[in-house]
Amino acid sequence: MMDLIVMKFGGSSVANTEKILNAANRIIENKKKARRIVVVVSAPGDMTDDLIEKANEITEKPNEREMDMLLATGEQISIALLSMAINNKSHDSISFTGPQAGIYAGYPHTKARITKIMPVKILQALKQNKIVIVAGFQGLNPNEDITTLGRGGSDLTAVALAAALKADLCEIYTDVTGVYTTDPRVCSAATKIDQISYDEMLEMAGSGAQVMQARSIEVAKKFNVIIEVKSSFSKEKGTIISGEVKKMEEVVVSSVTFDRNQVKMSVLDLPDVPGIAAKVFGGLAKENINVDMIIQSSARDGFNDISFTISRTDLKKTLPLLRKLSKKLKAQGVIYDDKVAKVSIVGVGMKSHPGVASDMFNYLSDEGVNIHMISTSEIKISCIINDKNVDKSVKALHSGFKLDK
Ligand code: ASP
Ligand code: MG
Repeated sequence: MMDLIVMKFGGSSVANTEKILNAANRIIENKKKARRIVVVVSAPGDMTDDLIEKANEITEKPNEREMDMLLATGEQISIALLSMAINNKSHDSISFTGPQAGIYAGYPHTKARITKIMPVKILQALKQNKIVIVAGFQGLNPNEDITTLGRGGSDLTAVALAAALKADLCEIYTDVTGVYTTDPRVCSAATKIDQISYDEMLEMAGSGAQVMQARSIEVAKKFNVIIEVKSSFSKEKGTIISGEVKKMEEVVVSSVTFDRNQVKMSVLDLPDVPGIAAKVFGGLAKENINVDMIIQSSARDGFNDISFTISRTDLKKTLPLLRKLSKKLKAQGVIYDDKVAKVSIVGVGMKSHPGVASDMFNYLSDEGVNIHMISTSEIKISCIINDKNVDKSVKALHSGFKLDK
């Protein structure tokens, strides 16, 4: 028997009454597995998106404090209904907002970080043998205003609570049965991964896989919270996310990911003098534009080109800014390609197996896929390719690295 389990239900797991009742049953069943249970829930279905849309119907630039006031209501609907459902099945349960649960956060509004957790009310309720239901994605800031924790922030609430309460396990309930070797919608040979390391999950989240919020994985790694990603709608074992264990290293590549939300930007014929790159990227950073891969061509005749990728959602903001910078820095101009995508392979085994990059390039070239840009980390290799080639590249890499079932 475990002492404490944190269970987190995502929006798709509490999207309607039937699903809320299903979640309540899963929670009650877990009473056989653990003495104490704390549950974190997201807003039902797409409610957070709908609320953002509502705000945008009123103003293009909603006040961020009021935005948080609005967004936090979604999770409150879920906790109340879920707690009622559990009570109705003759189990004692109580719901808390983030602030009531003692979750303190900083700034800025809409993507604050958790600063500390003082779970006084949670511990009291657990002592009274209650099942505790906590609203995900929210906390109280130093101004005593409600704040949210960035999109997908319920994962962060769950992992942070699991760390603060020293939970034995943090279960993430969703609509898929675990973490897959790649997206099964693109490659039907994808298989569920039994166990994967925090670092691999972080690289996967950063390269397009949408399983868990990246920051929640960082916190899990820092406090060594064992996570199981599993389905709300099946009894199947899920995927364990944990620290690295020996057998993970035997797998060279554990997953293939892709991100279609990419644009390649190039500034042409920049004068090759010190400080130029700092000026280009400093200008972008000031506007909060996230840059991913960067390539600088080698200088010829005192000039060089700099290319980099950004997400498509930032193109509108980036283009005029970059054109201005290019003029100011006396470059020849700016070109961009928004028909590109990123495919990546991830695996801790890469650290100890040479030749993985050349294998990857071979599998892509066998498919006639041209590579525009390459970047690597210790456990990830990413290539920018034409977006029309994503499906066949993912399939080729998945089978090339022997991930097909
Ligand atoms: N409801 C919030 C969102 O959709 C938080 C979450 O789902 O984790 O981003
Ligand atoms: Mg959600």
